[in-house]
Amino acid sequence: MTHTRPRILVTNDDGVRAPGLKALARALTGFGEVTVVAPDREQSGASHALTLRQPLRIERLESGWYSVDGTPTDCVNLAFFHILKFTPELVVSGINAGYNLGEDTTYSGTVAGALEGRILGAPSLALSTVADADEAQFAVAATVALRMSQEVLSRGLSFDGLLNINVPRAPGGYRVTRQGRRVFREGLLARQDPKGREYYWIGLAPSEWQPDPLADHAAVAAGLVSVTPLHADMTFHPAIPEIRDWGLPSESAHP
Ligand code: MN
Repeated sequence: MTHTRPRILVTNDDGVRAPGLKALARALTGFGEVTVVAPDREQSGASHALTLRQPLRIERLESGWYSVDGTPTDCVNLAFFHILKFTPELVVSGINAGYNLGEDTTYSGTVAGALEGRILGAPSLALSTVADADEAQFAVAATVALRMSQEVLSRGLSFDGLLNINVPRAPGGYRVTRQGRRVFREGLLARQDPKGREYYWIGLAPSEWQPDPLADHAAVAAGLVSVTPLHADMTFHPAIPEIRDWGLPSESAHP
């Protein structure tokens, strides 16, 4: 069997019913042979979690659409090894309702879905846009997803990583960026339940960024699509000599 169109796996972390997922799958269908495997409910903030302590179930919703009662990483695993049983030419995760900028990429299930695709051997993209995106905005972001999918499939990605793409409203162009740094403020809200026990909500602080014109957040603030290459190998190579200089006992000399 020959494949004239690229086989594309689409996943997300907003869940299988999310409008961003539908917009993405729609935009890539025709260009590619699209299979959607997505969590059966929202998994935002799931990061790169893999479900190891409970079974997973797959539900076939319609032709080429599947849901899994797990994380985006679970979805990509089941897609590669059970649903597709081959390595797709591309994995695209999104389109997330809400940017994934700076350190947020480390919490992101959207980015993790793409990362898992990369780890399992396919070039991968993560797509995010504004939190209050409507259908028209998702369509704008889906156009970006199609363009970037075509670029990646024609050029390839020579590095061991993925592209994290954030799409603002009415983008005026693209900018290749680096991951920004957040200014962390306390974002914890404590309240009491009806029995008087305290409970907490995390993540209520407004976004504030360390100034950096090359950062992802600066690009979207300037109305540009931010394209950040992320590396799957998190080793910070320049730090290796520094830690070696600590003179920790070597492997041959047991501590
Ligand atoms: Mn999400």
